Amino acid sequence: MFTSSELNELKTLLATSKKITIVSHRNPDGDAMGSSLGLLHVLKQLNHNVTFVSPNEFPDFLAWLPNSNDIVVFEKQQDVAEEILKNSDLIFTLDFNALHRTGDFMGNFMKTLSNTMVLIDHHELPDNYAKYIFSNTNYGSTCEMVYDFINALNLNNLINKEVATCIYTGILTDSGGFRFPKTTPATHRCVAQLIERGVNNSEVYNLLYDNATYNRLQLLGRALQNLKLLPEFNASYITLSQDELNEFNYQKGDTEGIVNYGLTIKDVFVTAIFIENKDEGIIKISFRSQDDYDVNQFARKYFNGGGHMNAAGGKSFSNLEETVNQFIANLAKEKQS
Ligand code: 5GP
Ligand code: MN
Repeated sequence: MFTSSELNELKTLLATSKKITIVSHRNPDGDAMGSSLGLLHVLKQLNHNVTFVSPNEFPDFLAWLPNSNDIVVFEKQQDVAEEILKNSDLIFTLDFNALHRTGDFMGNFMKTLSNTMVLIDHHELPDNYAKYIFSNTNYGSTCEMVYDFINALNLNNLINKEVATCIYTGILTDSGGFRFPKTTPATHRCVAQLIERGVNNSEVYNLLYDNATYNRLQLLGRALQNLKLLPEFNASYITLSQDELNEFNYQKGDTEGIVNYGLTIKDVFVTAIFIENKDEGIIKISFRSQDDYDVNQFARKYFNGGGHMNAAGGKSFSNLEETVNQFIANLAKEKQS
């Protein structure tokens, strides 16, 4: 948590109406969207002028979150977003820890700003761009950190159904349905209160996970057929080419969670998914691991990325086949060292 003097400063700042902007990482997920919108709903009740700026479009499967239609998308409304950011009294950056995580495009702009920033995030090794930093990798989600932050500001009474639903969504998605190891008694106590405040937990699950298109399931089928095993490294991986994405009319969010299937095989401790993105000229990679196989380090070292010990991501500028070959070669290098 912030130190008590930092909290006092933040309380003073928030005591009078301010222009506040909330920013999440590019390709926002449930935790990024949930923490940003949850905090937005709290700050709005305090009569601040609050805007959530997302670097790019958010996935359809999160579009039901309260107030998602008010989100300013930087890559669609650059001028509007830049004005809002420049004129902010305070900028909260949520669920990321380095300004380039808002994308090359928005990241370069963010680096020019001298506004006061607040970082709340659970990824490893935060950059030092914010005046106020609440960084703790023991948390399973930024949403749970926002919940603790709200409590530390003595604003628990502002956690209404909307706030609770946003925060619940991020905790649910980032914990893989309360199953990842960072799910603690405190997480469950938090979730218990969120349900008391009106979250319809069953409905949220439905909206998130029982809302797929037929194409998405067909794409999952293809991904599973493409799954390869590397027994010598206790590893597996999945590829999806741009042609395959097109074949199933890929929509943002359709590949969410597919990477996890690679870990469900007995004796597999590390897995990856390689997704070709011809528009951006990259292969987007997600890594997952179990126990002490550190994919954050692996992604940082070999694939321009980062994240957490057991869930990380990165990118490659080589083609799909070369990228997979590099992955296998890097697994071999790590095994030797
Ligand atoms: P996912 O695989 O679900 O996209 O991401 C897993 C975790 O790795 C997330 O916490 C995400 O923030 C982080 N991550 C994903 N892609 C990148 C990347 O390109 N760079 C960095 N630094 N982190 C990433
Ligand atoms: Mn997160």
